[in-house]
Amino acid sequence: MGSRTELVEDLMERFPQVPREAVFKEDLLRGGVAFDKSALSDTANEAAGDVKPKSYFIFSFDHGTLPELGEAALRRPPEEIILTGGPYDLRRTVVSVRVNPSSPYRVAADEEGLLGLYLDGRRIADVGVPPMPEYYRHTLSNGKSVMEVAPTIQWGYLIYLTVFRVCQYFGAKEECQYCDINHNWRQHKAAGRPYTGVKDVEEVLEALEIIDRYDTQKASTAYTLTGGAITSKVAGRDEADFYGHYAKAIEERFPGRWIGKVVAQALPKADVQRFKDYGVQIYHPNFEVWDRRLFELYCPGKERYVGRDEWHRRILDSAEVFGARNVIPNFVAGVEMAEPFGFTTVDEAIASTTEGLRFFMSHGITPRFTTWCPEPTTPLGKANPQGAPLEYHIRLLQAYRQTMDDFGLSSPPGYGPPGPGRAVFSVSSFMDSLPADDTPAQGAEGTETGEEPVRV
Ligand code: SF4
Repeated sequence: MGSRTELVEDLMERFPQVPREAVFKEDLLRGGVAFDKSALSDTANEAAGDVKPKSYFIFSFDHGTLPELGEAALRRPPEEIILTGGPYDLRRTVVSVRVNPSSPYRVAADEEGLLGLYLDGRRIADVGVPPMPEYYRHTLSNGKSVMEVAPTIQWGYLIYLTVFRVCQYFGAKEECQYCDINHNWRQHKAAGRPYTGVKDVEEVLEALEIIDRYDTQKASTAYTLTGGAITSKVAGRDEADFYGHYAKAIEERFPGRWIGKVVAQALPKADVQRFKDYGVQIYHPNFEVWDRRLFELYCPGKERYVGRDEWHRRILDSAEVFGARNVIPNFVAGVEMAEPFGFTTVDEAIASTTEGLRFFMSHGITPRFTTWCPEPTTPLGKANPQGAPLEYHIRLLQAYRQTMDDFGLSSPPGYGPPGPGRAVFSVSSFMDSLPADDTPAQGAEGTETGEEPVRV
């Protein structure tokens, strides 16, 4: 295969059912994008400037460590970009920013100052960037920024509350082999950036108060409570109680204002019930990777403390508490093909993942996935700097949609509108690849739109 352009165009031709927007989005998510100096903000200060900066909301989602990113470490890139138009006539596509200075994709301003996305040197789309939301310009009474305590992603749709920014699975024998949560914490500390390890519940409420006050168009629709696994206790609380007590406080202060979600381990049913009692509406007990051998190798901590079979049993049990529609386990799409242990053919990887999708969907549970970003400080990222083949990601979109059809399921709740040109979910294109429905494009038409294309 020749250039990246040829690879992309070949896949578009072979898989015409997959929206062409999703082909570019998956390629940008798996391989990252470079930023020309003309496309970076003027500042490292997260509350200044006109563009909403990348918040590093849980993992680094970059292809280099901060010191390796050069200018992009000093002048923050945007949280997300939107692609439109160009020779492929792209519909509006929101893509999370994963920085890779050596990517063949580059965001740069043209002679007139209009931002564009370039592939192999050719302009392929106009680029819009999120405007700085008003709520980011305000600080908490303790001086912390809203972006640090309660960043928003998915074009303002989701408030991402990583309330515990490290994981108690620690070191090579316990950490998931694709996860850089602990490294991301260390690198931000080393760079002198603000990075709160455990967020105080009052701090979270104050940040939400600010968002609620200034998000007058109600673009923010959901919040996610998440962070590292808790195998003992944090602040005297076990995992269900720790993450749950934020939901309780949020629901007491802002009843029903947002859809409450929790990403946590697959916990015993009684713990899951506590989440529900605290007011959580959607539970994400992520299954990470379906294949047994790969789960054991990639998630050694989870395998040791819980075990794959028990993990899956708990996912099914949690449907009795939340209802199957509201249990949405995530997997990390692409790690199935990571060397040295992963599948060596796309066929095998798709067959395995589809088996997992069928297992959950046959119980009415709709998993979703994020596109693997091979961060270099993780064992799998280090061994696979290119990530998984683009063909795997494209065929997964096809298999995902087909399996949903087979079981009569539709897009999971809490992700905004589905469909190309409408989706806001930014870390994989599963929502871009599903058929559009008739519901209003909630969140997508909120305060953070109307900025494309952008002149710098
Ligand atoms: S459980 Fe695994 S994926 Fe989750 S934060 Fe810990 S190391 Fe990362």
